[in-house]
Order: sequence, then C-alpha cells, then structure tokens
Amino acid sequence: MRYPHTLLRLVRALATLPGIGPKSAQKLGLFLVQNPQVLAELRHSLEAAQALHPCPRCGNLAEAEVCPICADDERDTSLICVVESVSDLMAIERSGEYHGLYHVLGGALNPLEGIGPEELNLEGLWARLEGVQEVILATSMTVEGEATASYLAECLRQRQIRSTRLAYGLPVGGSLEYADEVTLARALENRRGYP
Ligand SMILES: [Zn+2]
Repeated sequence: MRYPHTLLRLVRALATLPGIGPKSAQKLGLFLVQNPQVLAELRHSLEAAQALHPCPRCGNLAEAEVCPICADDERDTSLICVVESVSDLMAIERSGEYHGLYHVLGGALNPLEGIGPEELNLEGLWARLEGVQEVILATSMTVEGEATASYLAECLRQRQIRSTRLAYGLPVGGSLEYADEVTLARALENRRGYP
C-alpha cells in the first residue's frame, strides 16, 4: 500500500521526536490527520514555540526579553542555582522549595566528548555574580556532573563566592529531572558547603 506523501512526511517528522518510534509516529500521524482541530491547535502552538529563545541572563527558555524567573521581582537575587539543562531547572521549580535565580550551563564538562569550560554557558555566570551570596551547584550526580561542580566550586572560591552542593539522597549517577519533588526539596534544604 502506498501512503499519501504528506502523511509519510508527517510520520517521518514525528519519528524524529525523542521517545517516538516508527509505530508510534504512524499512530500519531494518523490521529492528527483524522482530528483536524487537534492538528490546527498543534500547528499554532508549534508556530508560537518558534519565538522561544534562551534567556540572555540565565539560559532558561524565554519568550519575552528575559525568562519569567529573571523577570519575577519576588525571587531572591542573592542566590543562583546552577543546573545543566532547562529540564533540570523545571525539576527544581516543581519542588517548590527554591526561590532564587538560576543559571543553565547547557551541559556538563565531558573531556571525552570534547566539552570543556568554553563549551558551557560560564562567561554569563561570572558576569552576574555581583550581589550574589551563594551559588548552589545543582549539576547531576553523574561523573560529569560532579566534575563540573568541583570545577565551578574552585572558580567561585577564587572569586570569593560561597558555593554549596545538593545533599546526597539524590540517586548517584542520576539526572535531576527524574528525581521526585520531595527528594529534590530535601536535597536543596540540606545542601552542604563546598570544602
Ligand atoms: Zn532568565
């Protein structure tokens, strides 16, 4: 059987999404073309999503000049929580425990894959330390995440800024985004000073 070309194109595009295999892509594609209202809404949200860009201050996603967290004057500007990714930032936000600002690195140090300090969003971090009392190093509990936290702790020590690391209790080797809210809230609450 030959599929219409436009359907094939849609299915192929859907199959490029993470976690979507060929069968799911076909199922989703058929569902969309048979439900024009859902298709229209999806088309509008995809078009609108193109306006999202990295916040020039923290690296979170923004649709205005800066992201909603940087724009919120209720947040504690003396605290910066450094995370690897926007999904980790969202995980910490879900815990409801944290009210400071963030800084998204865009990855972790990984010499084997050629990711050194220059590849991470670090210059932006050094530029915004004025008035900051504490930087929480909330990189993942992986080898790369730990190495990144040690590196940042040393850089911050040279700049005489206190840094803390999330408490253990988070799964070792794990990414923050999969931790549940309670575990993350505890890890934040019990964060420890960097030696
Ligand atoms: Zn921001």
